[in-house]
Amino acid sequence: MSTLAAARADNFYYPPEWTPDQGSLNKFHGQHALRERARKLDQGILIIRFEMPYNIWCGGCNSMIAKGVRFNAEKKQVGNYYSTKIWSFTMKSACCKHQIVIQTDPKNCEYVIISGAQRKIEEFDVEDAETYELPADEERGKLSDPFYRLEHQEEDLQKKKQAEPVLVRLQKVSDARHSDDYALNKALRARLRSQKKRVAEEEFASRKLGLGLRLLPKAEDDTATAANVKFSSKFEKNRKDKRALIKAASIFPESSGSSMSNKKRIELEVKRRKISAGAASKLLTGTIKPSSWSQSMAPSIRHKGVSVCPRKL
Ligand SMILES: [Zn+2]
Repeated sequence: MSTLAAARADNFYYPPEWTPDQGSLNKFHGQHALRERARKLDQGILIIRFEMPYNIWCGGCNSMIAKGVRFNAEKKQVGNYYSTKIWSFTMKSACCKHQIVIQTDPKNCEYVIISGAQRKIEEFDVEDAETYELPADEERGKLSDPFYRLEHQEEDLQKKKQAEPVLVRLQKVSDARHSDDYALNKALRARLRSQKKRVAEEEFASRKLGLGLRLLPKAEDDTATAANVKFSSKFEKNRKDKRALIKAASIFPESSGSSMSNKKRIELEVKRRKISAGAASKLLTGTIKPSSWSQSMAPSIRHKGVSVCPRKL
């Protein structure tokens, strides 16, 4: 919209050819005060912004249209309920351009979907929700009956008298609680301030300890619970193993080193003796030269391995 057109639309621009006897600007331009929105006025339709009164399922694509979503809707009168007009709103859903028609229902103070959508059921059973059911429509109708009212007036007055002291007491409590706003506000702010301070102190302390999270202050119950917990430690197990080993071992001292290293030493000696014996016999038979003696030893050691030796022991 150009600036001139915008000014025209705002009804602020009076062109030089306009004279007061020509009437209003709308009349001068030959347009309705509501402009585009009134383009179907001859069919009795006005275009308005309609706000969805509750959650619905779109009839075209089954997606949900939430309560409060706004539409450009065509509003027209479709009937009367006594002297109240029944309005119909026709709009196209944003999701799939499906036409939705909604009407007012003055009798039940409701909106009803005529076509193109389905209301999302969000009602609940009074007993399931454990709430109080408000008087039904018949009850409301009865109240407008003067005889019914006359019959129950005395009873209602009695109830009111009984409830009065309780109500007065409640009012007093409420007044006492809210009389001194300043003190209440002050107390609340002081509590918040001390809380903030404590949190900051705790954060600082935990940062000092190199922890990534805030440690809460010590609680007595926690200390007691922690004291009651017994962890099975590795230390205890190691100690038992060592004790068992000592008990199983001979009480006489050995010549050198521990029992394990002694055993290994014996094995090695046996191996060495066997190798040298084999090499000597080969030398005697002349299968290998003395110069290759040391080279041929290595594979034989590897080959015979440890598993052979304990058998020879
Ligand atoms: Zn849709």
